[in-house]
Amino acid sequence: MRAILLLHTGGTLGMMPSGEPASLAPGRFLDHLLEQVPELGQMASLSVEVPFNQDSACVEPGDILALAARIRATARDFDGFVIIHGTDTMAFTASCLGFLLADLGKPVVLTGSQRPLAFVRSDARSNLVNAVDLACRAVPEVGICFGTHWVRGVAADKLSVHQFEAFQSPNLPPLAEIGAEIRLHPDAGRFEHRVPAGLDGGLDLDIHTVTPHPGMAWSVPPSTARAVLIQAFGAGNLPMGRADLGAFLRHCEDRKLPVVVTSQCPYGGVDLSAYEMGRKIEAASAISGGLHTRWAALAKLALVLGAGGGVEEVREAFRTQWAGEPMPGEAWPQA
Ligand code: ASP
Repeated sequence: MRAILLLHTGGTLGMMPSGEPASLAPGRFLDHLLEQVPELGQMASLSVEVPFNQDSACVEPGDILALAARIRATARDFDGFVIIHGTDTMAFTASCLGFLLADLGKPVVLTGSQRPLAFVRSDARSNLVNAVDLACRAVPEVGICFGTHWVRGVAADKLSVHQFEAFQSPNLPPLAEIGAEIRLHPDAGRFEHRVPAGLDGGLDLDIHTVTPHPGMAWSVPPSTARAVLIQAFGAGNLPMGRADLGAFLRHCEDRKLPVVVTSQCPYGGVDLSAYEMGRKIEAASAISGGLHTRWAALAKLALVLGAGGGVEEVREAFRTQWAGEPMPGEAWPQA
């Protein structure tokens, strides 16, 4: 039997029918899992740890770095890893871990659920069983197993608050389709590892994020911000006729603050050459986020800033595919 380390970090899956989080003690949590899903004990030799137990809205960068460190430290002892995580920020954790653990060489499967395991009608049981199954398959990917898909972490986003198919990788086919059989994509586990060395020490999230709407007034980022992430309209457009936006971008340029542009649309990505507005943004030194999800863009930025990088390092990072994140012109063929 494969040895799997299951790290429980909180979220809906482990909640009790009362709505309380499950007991913190790892032994008691394993008992709870095996009581609800006894077949897990036949699928793998499971060890359980509870690094933290909280709503994923409360996850801090230190929690993510600690998870990555724990997985690295125990990589020799386990064939795969399952992380139970709240769904709200799972795509961000998966993006960070996808970059931080790109060279691990073992599966890291994040999962969670829309309804607690202790509920009679719940997606938790099947998500857990599928996650453990995937973790036993020796496919070296960090991905989210949810509903009928396993999707690459650095391409994933939560697209539904209530549907059992909550996650997708809008710009990349799934790593696996989960039905009567689990069908792995032929390219699952195959990507070039190009994460620059030395990017594992910190996640600097002092990033000013902006999601504009028509007519919005632009005020310059706080003085502490080290970068700006704008979720622009469509292919990366912004109202470049506005004087306050012009002042905003000039301020960022003068202060050498990297400005990365992603899209408010989950499908497709930024192409700053497509419209006049985009071309003006590019001329103002902004960096295209291409097909990066907002979470992958945030994770990449935080890692570069955490290692002390500035505008040039950020520009290079968004030009380079680090760990199989979708890039323009490099998408997989549909499975
Ligand atoms: N608020 C919960 C969390 O993200 C939602 C969930 O787990 O589905 O922790």
